[in-house]
Amino acid sequence: MEKESNFAEWYIEAIDRAGIVDRRYPVKGMNVWMPYGLRLMRLINGFMRDEMARTGHEEVQFPVLVPEDQFQKEADHIKGFGANVYWVTHGGLNPLDVRLLLRPTSEAAMYSLYSLWIRAHTDLPLRLYQIAPVFRYETRQTRTFIRVRELSFFFESHTAHENFDGAEEQIREDLEIWEHLARKYALPALFNKRPDWDKFAGAHYTVGVDAYVAAPGRAMQVASIHQYRDNFARVYDVTFEDRRGERQYAHQTTYGISERVLGAEVAIHGDDRGLILPPEIAPIQVVVIPILAKGAKGRILAEARAFEGEIADKVRTELDVREMRPGAKFYEWERKGVPLRVELGLDEIEGDHVTLVRRDGTRRRKVSRADAPKRIQAMLDRIQRDLYRKAERELREGIHTIDAYGDAPPKGIIRAGWCGKESCGLAMEDKLNRGMLGTPYFGEEFRGRCLECGDATDTVAYAANSY
Ligand SMILES: [Zn+2]
Repeated sequence: MEKESNFAEWYIEAIDRAGIVDRRYPVKGMNVWMPYGLRLMRLINGFMRDEMARTGHEEVQFPVLVPEDQFQKEADHIKGFGANVYWVTHGGLNPLDVRLLLRPTSEAAMYSLYSLWIRAHTDLPLRLYQIAPVFRYETRQTRTFIRVRELSFFFESHTAHENFDGAEEQIREDLEIWEHLARKYALPALFNKRPDWDKFAGAHYTVGVDAYVAAPGRAMQVASIHQYRDNFARVYDVTFEDRRGERQYAHQTTYGISERVLGAEVAIHGDDRGLILPPEIAPIQVVVIPILAKGAKGRILAEARAFEGEIADKVRTELDVREMRPGAKFYEWERKGVPLRVELGLDEIEGDHVTLVRRDGTRRRKVSRADAPKRIQAMLDRIQRDLYRKAERELREGIHTIDAYGDAPPKGIIRAGWCGKESCGLAMEDKLNRGMLGTPYFGEEFRGRCLECGDATDTVAYAANSY
């Protein structure tokens, strides 16, 4: 299983061997979540819920079906999603008067209610989110967690504000939220304002949060944020009475994240042996493996149990007492990405120590039995930081600043001057054979020339192949 030489196959094999989902469900692009995968995803989602609570968003749950007439209201939205929705046309044997569709995202479902809930400026800002499945009839080849027909855990927050500035402030908070999540997920990323031809259907502008997968040298969008201005409010009649008693359209934003995050974890941190999970999201942070020896089995098992008991209230642990060779156990927990392994056998008992092995390394460390619980916690923190730093370094090293097409390397992210003209941007996409990720949301100090037309510019753009 070689990540570098055959990334696409490696990715699928890593997922299969870790037991996260079963891909054999008879609808292509829809996965069955296995217990380990579900625990993993709940931890990932838990950090989103924490961030939402910290910033004063509230959780809701909307129905999965949307009436066609609601969906049809937003013409741009249809253009973006029309060919990719699943339709419900019958109720039992009877054709429905108004067809229903499975939501591909929830604007159309939510905003007819937002227009009822929002009456006055005192109702704003309204900041709600849900984590629920959405459905997209993908015609391109599906890829687990990345391009699927059922996104099982689609996080979407939908906010409404009094004015454009209020919505802008929300977007800055959304990016700050990602910075917090990035530490938990060990997924550093770029914030790129997408070019107009690639923004979300119906949005005023879109910010893509792009992580970097070094093995194939491709970007992976792990979150997206949309400034709608009052585009949707005009369509769904989301209005309020302002402080002067006048009716105004609300300004809206959305923030979307999904199990793509898990795809990024696999793709960015995994190695030839399988997954490597950042401890913060690992369902099992430490696996304790007794190394059984003839004649001392009972004693070793008792020690291993006692040790596991000591750490179990501080870290998520598993004690593996199955009747298997230790080597086979090591291999299995490595595939699942468990960050830290504790080995405890006769040697350890007699030496009054335990042996610790980090999943992201190979070195075996003997640590005194008394110090071990504390050392384990410190080591998990260390793994978390190291994984973040490694991904950050790969991202940094994956960016190549060029001022001539000939200097573009075969893979990685290109950084180059762009005058901002669409014709130049499209030509750059074509000649670089990469998609435009856009321009950095917070701007970057730059003096140079447009890669295509040569005009002087202080705007820099990023381009990459992406998932
Ligand atoms: Zn140009």
